[in-house]
Amino acid sequence: MSTPRTPPPLAGGAQGPDALRPLLAATLDALRDGAAARGGPLPAGGPDAVTARVRAAAEPLLPEHGTSPEAALRTLVHTLAAGAADPADPLCAAHLHCPPLAVAAAADLAASALNPSMDSWDQAPAASALEALVTRAIATRIHPGADALVTTGGTESNQLALLLARETPPAQSTGTPVRLVVGANAHHSLPRAAWLLGLPRPVTVPTPTGTLDPAALAQALTALSGPPGTLLVAATAGTTDAGLIDPLDDIADLCATHGARLHIDAAYGGGLLFSDTRKELLRGIDRADTVTLDLHKLGWQPAAAGLLAVRDPHDLAALTHRADYLNADDDTDAGLPDLLGRSLRTTRRPDILKIAVTLKALGRRGIGDLVDQVCDRAQQFAALVEAHPRFELYDTPAISTVLFRPVDADDTDLAHTRRKLLTEGTAVLGRADLGGRRWLKATLLNPHTRPDDLTTLLDLVDGQSRTTTPRLAEGSTPR
Ligand SMILES: *Cc1c(COP(=O)(O)O)cnc(C)c1O
Repeated sequence: MSTPRTPPPLAGGAQGPDALRPLLAATLDALRDGAAARGGPLPAGGPDAVTARVRAAAEPLLPEHGTSPEAALRTLVHTLAAGAADPADPLCAAHLHCPPLAVAAAADLAASALNPSMDSWDQAPAASALEALVTRAIATRIHPGADALVTTGGTESNQLALLLARETPPAQSTGTPVRLVVGANAHHSLPRAAWLLGLPRPVTVPTPTGTLDPAALAQALTALSGPPGTLLVAATAGTTDAGLIDPLDDIADLCATHGARLHIDAAYGGGLLFSDTRKELLRGIDRADTVTLDLHKLGWQPAAAGLLAVRDPHDLAALTHRADYLNADDDTDAGLPDLLGRSLRTTRRPDILKIAVTLKALGRRGIGDLVDQVCDRAQQFAALVEAHPRFELYDTPAISTVLFRPVDADDTDLAHTRRKLLTEGTAVLGRADLGGRRWLKATLLNPHTRPDDLTTLLDLVDGQSRTTTPRLAEGSTPR
């Protein structure tokens, strides 16, 4: 028998914080030094170079004997930071990938240390109470009686919205399967959720202008008859490619006329609910049966921070589920909250803590200001593009996404320019094929981005596209 060794310290309990302190110091140093070593929005060299550096740092992956915790943290956190696509860098602007606020990340550390699991009250007494309060407070920004579930993001929220449509009366009692009706601009997770849930193939309404046209939707709904509630229209507030907002109020009118249920995917645009000046862009959102929100987009949370708001909390009865070890009837009768019906997951992180801390620290106005700042930056970037002789703008941004392209580049050149910038590690831009052409996409989510950064971003693309047009081999330009 081997001699028992003292196990490594735990994160929780009264001693946990003292054990964490030196480890956090090592972690924070590694984050700082790693970001400095990267020196840009993305590591230079492309996938092979990054993989080689990760391999060199991480091996041996499962050593026979470990190193000190500080050494392991220093090596791997440094490697991850040096090799990160860092949304805190203003030139990292491809996706709906937000830079998390320091306050939210600090709260998330507490969530990890305490490790409540949200599937039963006896694993999360205070966290479950906080979740119940904060989800309702957020949901009532949309509708006074609404409630919300915490999810891993827009994908899970959209799946749950379809599931609730399938399982809620009257659809659930008719025997007619729910038919999803979406615009071609809808997020890919919606048709995928229909596939996952065994629903019929969705009806896709073409969206040549980028948003769902009420006349085209009316035509589709008229052509599809069915018992009330068996049609589910999903509209988008903030399309992934262009950040456009469907005409929500008109769509809600059509749903009312045709007895269709309405889901609004506001994974991106939902953040506008916090802004005094831009809330109006979401007019009609209160009429939806379900709304997807994603605070790891316009909410500056570390992932995951998704929500599904439900207008009528009775709809959540569909998720009622019993497992004696978590919510026995007599425990529930005795007053222990039944949490199992709040998610399809079992073990579940208290993602509500970082959200609650952020809301309290910044206030509704503080978050609204951040939303306004990134939307204003997008307007400024669009103006720069428009004023530039060598660039073309797709459209005035509705939220904070700007689509643009060099006037003399073809679609292949444009894709090549994007990859060149990625390989150099100088800028991270997205791409979108819309209106029959390809565009570069800047999704501005960083409230610290300054006008100078926008000029730099455009200059980088300009410089790159001018060297790209007489084609260079990819990755041939040194950083
Ligand atoms: C990001 C996004 C999603 C998916 O959300 P995840 O959090 O990535 O799962 C769904 N719909 C829209 C409109 C989105 O922008």
